[in-house]
Amino acid sequence: MIKKIEHIGIAVNSISEALPVFEALFDKKAYKTEIVDSEFVKTAFIRVGESKIELLEATNKSSAIAKFLEKNQGGFHHIAFEVENIEGEISRLGNSGFNLIHQTPKQGADNKRIAFLHPKSTKGILVELCQENS
Ligand code: ZN
Repeated sequence: MIKKIEHIGIAVNSISEALPVFEALFDKKAYKTEIVDSEFVKTAFIRVGESKIELLEATNKSSAIAKFLEKNQGGFHHIAFEVENIEGEISRLGNSGFNLIHQTPKQGADNKRIAFLHPKSTKGILVELCQENS
């Protein structure tokens, strides 16, 4: 079951440049910055009510964020939904014809297991499923 919007991912060229803008926008400090080596990204999270904003910066050229920023100026990158049972959702969505980038969950930022759906099957929106590690 999809429970809520967990966070919205925003691609930026530089977290150190972008973070003060978002911290001023929300009048709040980021509660965490974290490097996810497997994804070649640096992330920063700001809580906004029940959801979060995740800023993503590429740590090298093979990062999906680096590729995104070659084609886009930056900005909205993905929407993440919190799920109760990520394996169950992966199989439900796979059986419903959605194109999954990850067939099995992988370790993501902020203590979550994650899986992405391909934007081709979600009307151009990159969708992340995430479940808190227990
Ligand atoms: Zn995310």
